[in-house]
Amino acid sequence: MLALRVHEPRLRWPIDPHLPRKLRGQRIRRVARRAKYLLLELDSGTLLLHLGMSGNLRVVPRDTPRLPHDHFDLLLDSGRAVRFNDPRRFGSLLYTATDSRAHPLLKDLGPEPLGAGFDADYLWQITRGRRVAIKQLLMNSHLVVGVGNIYASEALFRARIRPQRAARRLSRADAVRLVRAVRTVLALAIRAGGTTLRDYLGTDGAPGYFRQKLYVYERAGKPCRRCGTPIRALTQGQRSTYYCPSCQQ
Ligand SMILES: [Zn+2]
Repeated sequence: MLALRVHEPRLRWPIDPHLPRKLRGQRIRRVARRAKYLLLELDSGTLLLHLGMSGNLRVVPRDTPRLPHDHFDLLLDSGRAVRFNDPRRFGSLLYTATDSRAHPLLKDLGPEPLGAGFDADYLWQITRGRRVAIKQLLMNSHLVVGVGNIYASEALFRARIRPQRAARRLSRADAVRLVRAVRTVLALAIRAGGTTLRDYLGTDGAPGYFRQKLYVYERAGKPCRRCGTPIRALTQGQRSTYYCPSCQQ
């Protein structure tokens, strides 16, 4: 049986004061993820947990003394607690008693980039008739989730597509290459973050080890790793973009 112990309810959204009562006696049936939300599916509802900018979860014996910024514990039957720490308190813990896919924070999200819903057919469809730059389209979470600035830049390099190209100018072959590149970049980043440096994250959220493998991101003026041409930088939608003017068309 699950129990919730709250020490600091003032997160991005306040933790519902009735939540400990709502959770009492429930079990965690399944753990899933949607975009940046961890979903704990319970007997009769779902907990939506977001780490915010600076949050982390630890599994500790339940009587472990609290550290500063430890805000709540999910107490497990095993005697352990899943403990949430978040110095900046942008994280959140929400509960819905109904289908989590219909939750306002989740219902308008695009498909997962590593899931079956994100394929060349889908990318082809969503780029038709759109003048927006392909990089900005990739970063629009209503169209596909989880492709942040670094990964969009790197995927476009691998697919040899200029970030500022209008989405509607993608060819069918471009869509195939770009989907493959997005999946590759994310898989590499996950793997790098899942090895010995998993606890090290740069301030931009890039896993430390993955940073060493970047082709274009934050490499303005440096030679392209493929052709030697200096990497260029520009600003798109208030975000920095990097590309090789020779490799990417
Ligand atoms: Zn190049």
